[in-house]
Amino acid sequence: MAPACSSRINSLHVAVIGAGAAGLVAARELRRESHSVIIYERGTQVGGLWVYTPQTEPDPLSLDPNRTIVHSSVYDSLRTNLPRECMGYRDFPFVPRNDESRDPRRYPSHQEVLAYLQEFSREFNLEEMVRFETEVVCVEPERQKWKIRSRSSDGILKDEIFDSVVVCNGHYTEPRVAHVPGIDSWPGKQVHSHNYRVPDPFKDQVVVVIGNFASGSDISRDITGMAKEVHIASRSNPSETYQKLPGSNNLWLHSMIESARRDGSIIFKNGKVVQADTIVHCTGYKYHFPFLNTNGYITVEDNCVGPLYKHVFPPALAPSLSFIGLPWMTLQFFMFELQSKWVAAVLSGRVTLPSEDKMMEDVTAFYAELEANGIPKRYTHRLGDSQVDYLNWIAEQVGVPPVEKWRAEEVHGGYLRLTTQSDTFRDKWDDDHLILEAYEDFLRQKL
Ligand code: FAD
Repeated sequence: MAPACSSRINSLHVAVIGAGAAGLVAARELRRESHSVIIYERGTQVGGLWVYTPQTEPDPLSLDPNRTIVHSSVYDSLRTNLPRECMGYRDFPFVPRNDESRDPRRYPSHQEVLAYLQEFSREFNLEEMVRFETEVVCVEPERQKWKIRSRSSDGILKDEIFDSVVVCNGHYTEPRVAHVPGIDSWPGKQVHSHNYRVPDPFKDQVVVVIGNFASGSDISRDITGMAKEVHIASRSNPSETYQKLPGSNNLWLHSMIESARRDGSIIFKNGKVVQADTIVHCTGYKYHFPFLNTNGYITVEDNCVGPLYKHVFPPALAPSLSFIGLPWMTLQFFMFELQSKWVAAVLSGRVTLPSEDKMMEDVTAFYAELEANGIPKRYTHRLGDSQVDYLNWIAEQVGVPPVEKWRAEEVHGGYLRLTTQSDTFRDKWDDDHLILEAYEDFLRQKL
């Protein structure tokens, strides 16, 4: 059902936290709806995660809460895991540029994504809204508004009041580490993929990589060129799994690790034993909002941020507090754009939300459905097969066209290729007809 609309337009003072792909498009949409916007960005440039740095954190597992945080988790060899046509914002397609310094490939390098975001920022004059090197350290309600405390690079703290706060701080910086029985007495090294950049430190080593989704699959292949052996352990594999993987002669896939031993060995659930030098945890990340003080209203439990109506609005604090970019296994930039349009339109009063009670009923029903289907809490924000329905629902709220057929088919086929031909999916495909449809669409948009 389409939402209630109103002709009343409010122009609010809004803080956006983060100048990554989510914060940039959020700021653009908020300004388009006549809100005044300040983007707080603790880094020195726009692009968030896509600002590659060779620097890593001093604690390779990033367990120390007082460590110096390095934001990006991008590794040197990273290429996108989605085709560029479906990855970009709808009204600013991610197409190859006629410029030698750019990467024209369908699955380009991380440098190309950063260049795209920089171009997006220039095109819409977004940098003029950004306060760089300014970290938000506290966000809390104050007399029907929000107080933001920020710290600039010279250590000066400043308090400012906003009508609304949009949280876009990213969720690939706080590592989740797998629990391996016996690991405390295992003598080898451990590192999380957040601190992986290049394969060189693994020269001649036997490496166990835990996790076999996008990063696990990429990093294990990246290491094979340097290491003696690479063994992937994955909890989603049946316990008898033991398979040599195509594309290299020193890469094996196993079931999960059973235990690690004092003598340096790793025992897999399939009964195989390897003497390993290093474990690389490619086990994902945790949502983390160290600055947010909502007196316990918003919690993160087993990686579920809640309660949130449609992953965006906390019912009791809506619409003045919102989150862009929480769902995963989805078209990220495209979703950020739609969620941002929704937040901007709700704040201006053009689109209205259901009552707090109705939103809470929806959240409760959603959680009950996940539980009834046996979906663990930590997958609350995983969209996967439900992404098109979710994106179309938001598109309807804000009155824009649904997800294009070619885009939905590309992302579906893209995920399938990623999981079934993980060594070749970036360079071999059979959906040229979808590329053609996408470019015809981009051309129509321009006319
Ligand atoms: P980020 O890009 O992380 O930006 C958040 C920003 O907030 C940062 O600039 C940070 O400095 C700032 N910030 C954080 N806390 C504060 C604070 N307290 N105060 C001020 N500023 C703050 N997606 C795809 O679509 N395609 C891909 O191929 C792809 N590959 C990926 C590969 C890896 C290894 C990872 C980890 C993710 C990948 N993703 C990919 C998902 C990616 O996260 C999103 O595409 C997207 O870039 C995330 O944007 P964001 O704005 O939500 O977060």
